[in-house]
Amino acid sequence: MGQSDFMAEVLKQKNAIRKQLGLPPTSIKGTYLGPRRTAGVISKVKRKKLLKRDKHTCQICGRRFPERNLVPNHIDHDRRHNAMDNLETTCAGCNMNEGIIYSRLLREAGPRSEVLEAERLQIVEKARRIVREQVRRK
Ligand SMILES: [Zn+2]
Repeated sequence: MGQSDFMAEVLKQKNAIRKQLGLPPTSIKGTYLGPRRTAGVISKVKRKKLLKRDKHTCQICGRRFPERNLVPNHIDHDRRHNAMDNLETTCAGCNMNEGIIYSRLLREAGPRSEVLEAERLQIVEKARRIVREQVRRK
């Protein structure tokens, strides 16, 4: 098996796990190693398009906000993955809450270099569930 076949196989497995967890597919072959990896830039046009698609409504708490209080959220917490289906509109508060929960769970999982991508994606899913349950209880 050549290197590119191998990477294609890894990507296939990665997307199979993402599908099970209800996360959008990715074309990024490598493993997420944390925010220090180069983050992609979401252009102003893309941001506008995203806010319009989501009707300026936070996809976590369901409330509408003025543009300045809304932030694009990476559904899979991989900031290199700026495809529209990996982005959702969130208010600053919900975005921060989910970020905090995700970071805490990830830290608890062990040293960053030892957390497997499959495990990380489950943490993403868990953080999403927790933050949404918090909102429902309010
Ligand atoms: Zn919100």
